[in-house]
Amino acid sequence: MKTVLIDGSKEEGGGQILRTSLALSCITGKPLRIENIRAARRNPGLARQHLVCAQAACEISKGKCQGDALGSHILDFRPGPVRSGDFHFDIGSAGSASLVVQTVLPALFGVYKPSRVTVTGGTHNPWAPPFDFLSETFLPAISPAGFSGRCKLIKHGFYPAGGGKMTFSIEPSGQSARPIDLCGSGDEFQIHARIYTARLPAQIARRQEKLLSDSALNIADIEHVEATDSDGPGNCVMLRICSGGRTTVFTAFGQKGKPSEKVVGEVVSLAQDFLKSGAVVDRFLADQLLIYMAVSNAGAFTTSELSNHLLTNIEVIKQFLPVDFNTVEQPRQYRVSCQSP
Ligand code: ATP
Repeated sequence: MKTVLIDGSKEEGGGQILRTSLALSCITGKPLRIENIRAARRNPGLARQHLVCAQAACEISKGKCQGDALGSHILDFRPGPVRSGDFHFDIGSAGSASLVVQTVLPALFGVYKPSRVTVTGGTHNPWAPPFDFLSETFLPAISPAGFSGRCKLIKHGFYPAGGGKMTFSIEPSGQSARPIDLCGSGDEFQIHARIYTARLPAQIARRQEKLLSDSALNIADIEHVEATDSDGPGNCVMLRICSGGRTTVFTAFGQKGKPSEKVVGEVVSLAQDFLKSGAVVDRFLADQLLIYMAVSNAGAFTTSELSNHLLTNIEVIKQFLPVDFNTVEQPRQYRVSCQSP
């Protein structure tokens, strides 16, 4: 089969180009050469998380990799047939465990037997899907389309200490699958908040609770989770928007020297922008759904914005699969759909 050549410096120029390419190389069996890996980032090349993504793709497909070393700018990957199994991947840093899962999940759904994937690393990282997003937003969004999985948090791992653990049980794609259809708007919603702290003074959560209560949003309840199992300190504030049987999780992360006002302000404005749009799918889920729509050759959703991640992912997917995506601007939101050409 002809090798697919991907330029990792295009558009977003980050790790997602690598993960989507690895996932689709496993699914299609097409060999992959990716050059200029993460060229648009301050620390280009393979970082630990990305290296483990490549190793994980090799492991599930008994594939072969060249260039799989830290800092590498080029990777050659030749997949074998994807097999089910009980897989364990250890990032060995606070690199995002969710993003390693994101790499192998699409291919493992396509195998006839169930699999289990356990990843050690960061479970709650800035710039990546926190565990709660995977369990409450992502998995329920893809499940009606036949991609059915369960996940469990075994241990919290916050950036920069990492050391967390999560497991995923993956069922083969169902025959009765319906295309992803997350369109429409105008549902009633309720907002719930969740504050995580680990190894930090109690007043931080109390301050964030007060800031949330005083915010412009009408928050039904605020839960505080003290992650006593965490190896290092950590803090994040989540808003869970529940509407029409779906939950959208937005997160902002605390860090040393960052005032709680800023943390809460960030998550409140993410939620406000989403609610103003009336869209069903948030900007993060939007780029993560595309590969599942492409594999099903169908599907549509409305989203609050066309992020660079989304537009980049569309271009990468089109290099592997014969699909077309349509993006149509509507008042306050966009409609994204997928079909065969
Ligand atoms: P890099 O270091 O190259 O930026 P990366 O591999 O960490 O790379 P990106 O290429 O930026 O990551 O991709 C990040 C992914 O994480 C995207 O799919 C994005 O939607 C998702 N993501 C980022 N922040 C959140 C969040 N708060 N909630 C859910 N998903 C998120």
